[in-house]
Amino acid sequence: MIRESLRQANHRRNRLVLALAATLAIFFAALQLRADEPYARSRDYDLQHSKISLRFDLERKKVLGEVTHSLSILRDGTAKIVFDSAGLTIQKVTVNKAAAKFETTAEKLIIPLAAEAKSGDKFEITIRYEGKPTKGMYFILPDKDYPDRPSQIWTQGESEDTHYYLPTYDYPNDRLTTETILTVPASWITVSNGKLVSVGDAGKGLKTWYWKESVPSSTYLITVVAGEFDEVKDSWRGIPVTYYAPKGRGDRLPVNYGRTPAMMELFSKKFGVDYPWEKYAQVMVDDFVAGGMENSSATTNTSNSLTHPKLAPEYFTGEDDLISHELGHQWFGDLVTCKDWGDIWLNEGFATFLEAVWTEAHFGKDQADYERWNNAREWFRSSNIWNKPIVRHDFDDSSEFDGNAYGKGGWVLYMLRHQLGEDAFYRGIKHYLEVNRGKNVVTADLAKAIEEAAHINVDQFFSQWLYGAGAPKFDLSYTYDTEKHEVMLNVQQTQKVEGRVGLFRVPVEVEITTAAGPKLYNVTVSKEKQNFPLPAESAPLMVLFDKGGHILKSAEFHKEKKEWLYQLKHATDLADRADAVVALGKLKNDEEVVAALGDTLRTDKAWGVRATAADTLGQLDGVSASKLLLAALDSSDKPWVRSRVVSALGDFKDDAAVAAKLDAIAKHDDSYRARAAALQALGRLKGPKVFETLDATVAGDSPDGFLRNAALRALGSLGDDKAVPLLLEWSAAGKPIDSRTAAIRSLASLQKDNKDITKQLAGYLTEPHFPVRMAAIFALGEIPVQVMPTKIPPRVPLAKNSPPSSASKSSSTCCRK
Ligand SMILES: [Zn+2]
Repeated sequence: MIRESLRQANHRRNRLVLALAATLAIFFAALQLRADEPYARSRDYDLQHSKISLRFDLERKKVLGEVTHSLSILRDGTAKIVFDSAGLTIQKVTVNKAAAKFETTAEKLIIPLAAEAKSGDKFEITIRYEGKPTKGMYFILPDKDYPDRPSQIWTQGESEDTHYYLPTYDYPNDRLTTETILTVPASWITVSNGKLVSVGDAGKGLKTWYWKESVPSSTYLITVVAGEFDEVKDSWRGIPVTYYAPKGRGDRLPVNYGRTPAMMELFSKKFGVDYPWEKYAQVMVDDFVAGGMENSSATTNTSNSLTHPKLAPEYFTGEDDLISHELGHQWFGDLVTCKDWGDIWLNEGFATFLEAVWTEAHFGKDQADYERWNNAREWFRSSNIWNKPIVRHDFDDSSEFDGNAYGKGGWVLYMLRHQLGEDAFYRGIKHYLEVNRGKNVVTADLAKAIEEAAHINVDQFFSQWLYGAGAPKFDLSYTYDTEKHEVMLNVQQTQKVEGRVGLFRVPVEVEITTAAGPKLYNVTVSKEKQNFPLPAESAPLMVLFDKGGHILKSAEFHKEKKEWLYQLKHATDLADRADAVVALGKLKNDEEVVAALGDTLRTDKAWGVRATAADTLGQLDGVSASKLLLAALDSSDKPWVRSRVVSALGDFKDDAAVAAKLDAIAKHDDSYRARAAALQALGRLKGPKVFETLDATVAGDSPDGFLRNAALRALGSLGDDKAVPLLLEWSAAGKPIDSRTAAIRSLASLQKDNKDITKQLAGYLTEPHFPVRMAAIFALGEIPVQVMPTKIPPRVPLAKNSPPSSASKSSSTCCRK
């Protein structure tokens, strides 16, 4: 799974969104009420096959179901069969075709057996039921406010929500094959797991779609999608690859999703295990509660990933992070599944790592390095997960889908690959997939597979990075001895050693560059304080500790300005140059530094370093910095750099040249992203005529209202109460959902004591539109408690049974994206 806030942060990657994601994280961590079961259950039976037949009562948003489970008893003396089932009305149960008694509790369907069963006994249990699911299955239908929206029904099973629409065994440590038989209006299409066997007329304007999945997977990976969709067909090595968009948006599929077969090819080759399912479908749905979900052979993604064809070229890596993440899960998560939620990083860490593998192969090393460098910084910023290990079973107070499972998990696999080498690493991965395919795994299974295949013991590595918490923080310095011709490198680990955070033992590549050229040394750091004598013919021009940034760490390297300037210009790896940018950014009021960063902004070969230089110049302030940023606009034509330069200009208050340039860009520029960034920057600068510019932009048109939404967000930063009527208008039902969420969030930062606004925001909490509810929750979180309406409407998503659990999860925590 991938969280939508994460997807967006990755997609836009600018300071504002990251700040927003962090705020949401803190807010939703507090909302998480029910923790998922951390340890796998003991099982009484093995669910082997489910035949699921569903019809829908659209008017009442009900599911009418019949499911036949084929199962085999695992334990002698089993006297009853217990399924997970919540909020469903069970109408009839048969056991081996004979009517059977049953009872229900809030979370279970219990079927007593006529006699105690023995291990190996087989049962066929049929359950007829109906219900109006409060989770797990969602009905997105036209309504009075949105009469033209395409109808969609979709499910989201992870982590334990399948049993809200299907009585079943709802924990990952069981696997089964499925038949899914869906009867829907004749004009609809459906998507489910496995092969499409047939579509037949069902009378009364209905059709029945019959899907069959013959590769076993866990019940949280079952998917049902039905509705009015456009389809685009593709293929990979003869396997059907299909993409679906809500009706009317089919033209957006190829531009955003067209690289899927190339990813399937890359991953199949890297792993030495071919894509394992009979087809690969990706279906994009509206109001999705996550960013993406890797259902076996049939991923569901948010329709926000259907970027408008006019905007899509403005994103360097497009939606590839999302697409490669969910595709990666088809092996890591679906073919091989974590046994319990405590080992969820075996799903999410791999999927995150595989985003980088695709990025590196398709967009090049600099892009992969830049993302990894960013991910490390973001992980270090999320201090709430610092003292928690990646593998843990105590997540009562937080979500298991945190920045450790994702960001740090991905980093750990990257480090493992770097330390083992590409060949040994992938030999281990291939073996892991081969011995565990179709099985559930814990972290020890990965260590064992690597050792068996590569003959390298990884216990110590796993112990500190996966079962231990934190990461090394280094304090670094060196001296040069002109007589001994030696650099003495002083290394200190400064992380607080307590709880699960220990001292780290890490192999480090140190590069020393002298007039004679660079030399690389390998050292192993393992103690709190260590000195490493390293030969150097003359005084070093540059000393790099962990050259290229291959270790998840933070480092305070005490260097002189001239060394950082040298590093900025001459280091070969992106991470080292980006580190120099950040270090130099701490030297205020230094014209030499400003000039060097300006030079980097114009000439560095990696756009990520150029963009980081732009951010840093923005923070440095001063006339010369703003001049360099303004000048760089002439050469920064790539929207992903240009928008960052524009954004940085939003830090220069009372600079007429900046304000004029931003106004001009906001009104006319080739890049929509640059225009949006200019609108936001103007909002932050709060200049005299900004309201008029934003007001006019809201009234204007752009692809998907992209500029309008930016202007609506900017009105929040502007903080001018004149905007209230405009924001109220655009937050109202009937307006496009994206514009509404932008307006709602901005409203929250205006007139915080205005009870009418607060009342209107609280009214949005009961709306059927998930993003609107989320925006309202966020906005209300900004408002002082004394202004909150005393009566919160009954279906506020704080109540246990109304929010999608993955919703809170989808926004919760993160270090990263
Ligand atoms: Zn995921």
